[in-house]
Amino acid sequence: MKMTIATLGELLVEFLAKKENQGFSSPGEFWGPYPSGAPAIFADQVAKLGFQSLLFSCVGNDAFGEMNIARLRRDGVNVKGISVLPHATTGSAFVSYRSQAQRDFIFNLPNSACGLLSAEHLDGKLLGQCNHFHIMGSSLFSFRLIDAVRKAISIVKENGGTISFDPNIRKEMLNIREMSQAFEYILDYTDFFLPSDGELDYFGLSKSRDELQIVENLLARGIKHIVIKRGPRGASYYSTQEQHHVTGYPVDVVDPTGAGDCFGATFVSLFLAGYSIPDALAHANAAGSLAISTRGPMEGTSTLAQIKALMG
Ligand code: ATP
Ligand code: MG
Repeated sequence: MKMTIATLGELLVEFLAKKENQGFSSPGEFWGPYPSGAPAIFADQVAKLGFQSLLFSCVGNDAFGEMNIARLRRDGVNVKGISVLPHATTGSAFVSYRSQAQRDFIFNLPNSACGLLSAEHLDGKLLGQCNHFHIMGSSLFSFRLIDAVRKAISIVKENGGTISFDPNIRKEMLNIREMSQAFEYILDYTDFFLPSDGELDYFGLSKSRDELQIVENLLARGIKHIVIKRGPRGASYYSTQEQHHVTGYPVDVVDPTGAGDCFGATFVSLFLAGYSIPDALAHANAAGSLAISTRGPMEGTSTLAQIKALMG
């Protein structure tokens, strides 16, 4: 069977403030609309690497939705899982950077088309063809979406597939209670856990402040592979057997949004395709670095040839 990687969640357009510290409380100029949404960026990166990629989401019957679908289709994503809802509007987000590491968002998601995505939008037949399902924590902003994730987990796991989980925590979403409850449930089924270093506390602070101790606890819980993303400092891989570390490439930081999604998609795809762990990690690190050098969240996805060119 050919390898198919599926994911689901927000598909939106993003507008990016032109100036650092521009904020949203006075008029200013923005770049955009750009195709965006963490799961959509992940799916786009999987497809660009040449693997079968399936995204489940919803858009409105509007130009933003058309643009998103056209981009994903052009890059090779299977868009059969994207529903066009006649009475809803495509999601949107505004982002303003304070520094390279800090940014503010205004999301229009729960009331948008992708906020209406539910288990009934997931075609069981399409999902039945998938050997892997990826979950973005940023997608768990409503009961409907959490329900859809549970359905996908159960179908893919029943077929012997694997699950990856990137918490992708947005501070704007942390007060959503069902989200943190869903995290606990998802961790029980997670094979690949892909947090940022700053998110780790959230998954073990009550028990330990020591990163290695948190990692050990998560591995003891049954997670097989943990990859911690460290921004410019690269990334680290942990299993019960192995540890590997890579340092980020010294590239110009143009727009860091989406780097983690490109990193995760590359690591998971190449690992599942049979690459060794150090090799999958090195390629993922290069994919992350390429993503930050391009303006626009999905504009920085890359092909295997582009990744290999950076790796020399
Ligand atoms: P996001 O959620 O915004 O997509 P993230 O927090 O999930 O990002 P990061 O750690 O920011 O993930 O980035 C993922 C990977 O991209 C890093 O592990 C690294 O390989 C690469 N990367 C990110 N920022 C930089 C940087 N400034 N310089 C070089 N490489 C970077
Ligand atoms: Mg992320």
